[in-house]
Amino acid sequence: MTKLLPTSTAGSLPKPSWLAEPEKLWSPWKLEGPALVEAKRDALRVTLAEQEGAGIDIVSDGEQTRQHFVTTFIEHLTGVDFEKRETVKIRDRYEASVPTVVGAVSRDKPVFVEDAKFLRAQTDSPIKWALPGPMTMIDTLYDAHYRSREKLAWEFATILNQEARELEAAGVDIIQFDEPAFNVFFDEVNDWGIATLERAIEGLQCETAVHICYGYGIKANTDWKKTLGSEWRQYERTFPRLQASSIDLVSLECHNSRVPMDLIELLRGKKVMVGAIDVATNTIETPEEVARTLRKALQFVDADKLYPCTNCGMAPLSRDVARGKLKALGAGAAIVRRELSA
Ligand SMILES: [Zn+2]
Repeated sequence: MTKLLPTSTAGSLPKPSWLAEPEKLWSPWKLEGPALVEAKRDALRVTLAEQEGAGIDIVSDGEQTRQHFVTTFIEHLTGVDFEKRETVKIRDRYEASVPTVVGAVSRDKPVFVEDAKFLRAQTDSPIKWALPGPMTMIDTLYDAHYRSREKLAWEFATILNQEARELEAAGVDIIQFDEPAFNVFFDEVNDWGIATLERAIEGLQCETAVHICYGYGIKANTDWKKTLGSEWRQYERTFPRLQASSIDLVSLECHNSRVPMDLIELLRGKKVMVGAIDVATNTIETPEEVARTLRKALQFVDADKLYPCTNCGMAPLSRDVARGKLKALGAGAAIVRRELSA
């Protein structure tokens, strides 16, 4: 990017009510067959127009074609039985009924490549595409086959690399891996989590990002945050290794969170997507609030490496609130951009 402080979002954006029930995760589709295919593409066009209208520089599909950021990818793989469900504790935090790994996992056909080509054809802006990271994938499944979190993570990393190479060929500029699990399983992150992530990006020429957050603004997450104390130092456990990794960008939660801002220093040299929009509240930030967060972040990240962003995805928010937050992000970044060029 030649533009200073290029803005983007962490990933998901709300879906129109004609596509899926709003303000809900895993919301079922309202259409089926060819009508659903067409509706997803229309929704993608709308979300793209809203991002560009709000001054978002690096745009995405807003995850309009997927029900959930992890499960939709897994649904397209073989070796996972969605009928056979087990209750497991996700992120060591809340119980959920998840599908079972019943055999060797593989990707027999591309998952998001056609969607990415469609997005690419709609815009000249740089595009970012999100995929789940290996550790977050294994943490959203019951494994009755490999019976090893690490082994399954390596298998998924190989599969993700196949998908990522095709996304790159489709014209994606930044491929992002969502790893909220990196904020929970610190020993595993350092033992093999970052290594599997590097396997997933092997051979890519495009830029690569990892998104690590405190989750969507759902109750299980806000309850968990209340137990984390006055300072959230989780990033301290993983950033040193990430700084030494081959990942280009790190997307992190910042605004309204209790993450000490100086932890960003641990990433010095990397590009940092600083969360300047809180996704766990309906209150829309003012551009000045966004600017204040970015100015603070500039103490710990060089201006040419600061990428203003949202704390996490905005899928569970109302469209009005999400639109307001996108605009605030665009306007807040513009304030600081002007200050830097003055
Ligand atoms: Zn997130």
